[in-house]
Amino acid sequence: MVQDIVNAQNDFFATQKTKNVALRKQLLKRLKQEIEVQEDAICNALYADFKKPKFEALATETQLVLAELGHAIQNVERWSRPIPVEASWTNFPSKDWIQPEPFGKVLIISPWNYPFMLTLAPLVGALAAGNTAVLKPSELSPNTSRIIAQIIQNVFPAEYVAVVEGGVETSQALLAEKWEYIFFTGSTRVGKIVYKSAAEHLTPVTLELGGKNPCVVDETASVKLAAKRIAWGKFINAGQTCIAPDYILVHKTVKERFVEELKHHITEFYGSDIQKSLDFARITTEKHYRELKEKLEGQTLLFGGSCVDSEKYVAPTLVDEPDMNSKLMEGEIFGPILPIIAYETEGDLHRYISNYGKSLAFYLFSTDKKFQKKLMSQYSFGGGTINDTVIHISNKRLPFGGVGPSGIGGYHGKHSFDLFSHKKSIVKRGNWLDIPLRYAPYKLSTAWAKRFKHLF
Ligand code: NAD
Repeated sequence: MVQDIVNAQNDFFATQKTKNVALRKQLLKRLKQEIEVQEDAICNALYADFKKPKFEALATETQLVLAELGHAIQNVERWSRPIPVEASWTNFPSKDWIQPEPFGKVLIISPWNYPFMLTLAPLVGALAAGNTAVLKPSELSPNTSRIIAQIIQNVFPAEYVAVVEGGVETSQALLAEKWEYIFFTGSTRVGKIVYKSAAEHLTPVTLELGGKNPCVVDETASVKLAAKRIAWGKFINAGQTCIAPDYILVHKTVKERFVEELKHHITEFYGSDIQKSLDFARITTEKHYRELKEKLEGQTLLFGGSCVDSEKYVAPTLVDEPDMNSKLMEGEIFGPILPIIAYETEGDLHRYISNYGKSLAFYLFSTDKKFQKKLMSQYSFGGGTINDTVIHISNKRLPFGGVGPSGIGGYHGKHSFDLFSHKKSIVKRGNWLDIPLRYAPYKLSTAWAKRFKHLF
């Protein structure tokens, strides 16, 4: 089956039909309509997968994809045009331009935590740029995977876009094929497997991976607002967000107040019996649920801590001063558990932040402009926000992605179009003049050749 789809997409791409920008626009519009029609069904699928609250499903999945689609529909013609550039004197007379062109067939592999958005948002860029695509949604969110397959089937023939459902083996079967581009969202561990497979065919990749995102709250921060915005960014999607704050480094002089504010806001958001709240999601997989429970073993809790096996429910939990070598602090938490660590000096901060390498996100709550500037430049990370969490993902003008172990490449809006386009450089010479100086036997002195740098 995989082989059939691959062959069909190769043949279809070779017809050059995807180079037709009007057709791309028309299909993007069709996809948008179909998602609008199916929006409730998508939300139901997300609820069935991990009790994702409808408001969150709309705000963080369907509406983000619809925004990407709207933006692409509006701009795809402009983005696809050749970009004229200044010619160099050595080529005089010439016209020079960059022609964005599609790579061919793209493989998009996605995870379960934002299963709709992380499959469809890259697809928008891939299609706008004129590629065909195969989508492999996560097997761990099967209801969402099914509705994605349905939507795609309703809009596209499989030779243009196909969904291949399945788990690790399916993913590996797909990776064994030759692709012209692979876009992977998931864990760093699997990202390495994908990168190796891509290397076999020298296939370019985007890797959207995870990491342990620091969140610093200094002594000048607006503590009340910081706590509110952190509680929102951490506990949305039950903490299963790649850019959620992973751990808090709070200045020791404001720690107590900050913790009290956090507790207050968690209760404000989800009530005193959080298990009954309709606004708090569950852990998606049994394995991940067990891992989160293990991470809590032996920790000192400031808030929460309860887990209900039958529902894979983990309460929003605050952990006090976990040991850096404990399971909780080993890797990305990816759940509603928030370690709170007091710091005193910038040296303390550095010890933690540098220990985990380049993260996907970074958050700083501070009103000290100098400190803001310093930390933003000192640490390398995918993207971040000063005085809020998570929201940098929502601006389509900002490229979203990691750096180093948290990923390769950035997308959203025009950045997606650029990511899925090869920039073909073309020089068109005029025939009315042919300056003979470059041809052998060389008549110019080498001293003359040394001046070429001014002409290129
Ligand atoms: P995962 O890496 O386990 O799985 C992602 C995809 O890879 C799934 O479709 C899965 O079927 C496939 N896969 C799993 N094992 C494979 C293997 N051995 N060979 C080939 N394919 C395989 O990730 P997950 O658990 O679904 O998602 C959570 C991770 O994703 C977290 O680390 C999180 O930080 C990261 N993430 C990153 C972003 C981002 O935008 N940077 C967004 C969401 C999640």
